[in-house]
Amino acid sequence: MTQPILSVQELKKYFVVGHTGLLGKRTPVIVRAVDGVSFEIYPGETLGLVGESGSGKSTVAYTIVGMYKPTAGKIRFMDTEIGANDQRPKELKKAIQIVFQDPGSSLNPRQTIKQILEMPLRVHRKGGNRLEMVLHLLEIVGLPPETMYKYPRMLSGGEKQIVGIARALATEPSLVILDEPTSALDVSVQAKTINLLLQLQRQFNLSYLFITHDLSLMRNVANRVAIMYLGKICEVANTADFFQKPLHPYTQMLLSSIPVVSEEEEALRPKKVLSQGEIPSPVNIPTGCSFHTRCPFAMPHCSKVDPPFVDMGGGHLVRCHLYP
Ligand code: SF4
Repeated sequence: MTQPILSVQELKKYFVVGHTGLLGKRTPVIVRAVDGVSFEIYPGETLGLVGESGSGKSTVAYTIVGMYKPTAGKIRFMDTEIGANDQRPKELKKAIQIVFQDPGSSLNPRQTIKQILEMPLRVHRKGGNRLEMVLHLLEIVGLPPETMYKYPRMLSGGEKQIVGIARALATEPSLVILDEPTSALDVSVQAKTINLLLQLQRQFNLSYLFITHDLSLMRNVANRVAIMYLGKICEVANTADFFQKPLHPYTQMLLSSIPVVSEEEEALRPKKVLSQGEIPSPVNIPTGCSFHTRCPFAMPHCSKVDPPFVDMGGGHLVRCHLYP
């Protein structure tokens, strides 16, 4: 069996966001942003990690790239267990790169595109002609050579994001974390950016962890999809199973409300699942199954017992008491 390129086991990331009580008896207020998340990513695969705002999906991404130190759990890249960024060998930092959501704020406005692309080359790649490398990076992402003399403010949002992608590729990574890479872009350039990401994946056998709140995007992009709710994954399946046989009530709720573009998709769409209320605060995560406050199928024990993952076959995992 193929070895995963990334293996995440029972990852937890908690934040102390304040204190309650009087001086001397202060109790920390803890946000359990990621609370026991496990998954693998295989070479050349795209895993879509989907969730609403506040589900913890970006915290998973930032913990994997080393921007946050895990509270608990293990992250393995190939054969090596990895910690926070300052403890990682240089080779590991090169191998895992990230593309951020907002291309405007992720590029230094005082640097030219040449300087921006040279930075990771200077830090991670020794020797070679850096000008040639910058020109090569621009060529593989389809930007004209003269782009290197421009500043970020002179580029469109789509071009800035493509520079962000080129910067991530500068270190020749194996795994790229895409944190909502198209959500800040105009609809007209979203498809172009997605096509570029898919083409680069084929060309360089990249693995992607694709973080998004846009479930419909995953249909044509991901090999497998994982759904996050309040810091936990509640369902994982390969993309075909996921869209044809969604099992978790939360997944069904999300799928029943996305737009469809064909009769075939309409036929597969689950019946409308109406949730009750808003997503609870991550400071006060409900006991038992954390979805029980919104679930139309909730049973008395759902609020008491957190369901374990059940394997429904073919790697389709679901965390819900409706399944044996
Ligand atoms: Fe709904 Fe209960 Fe399943 Fe949670 S465990 S999703 S509350 S049926």
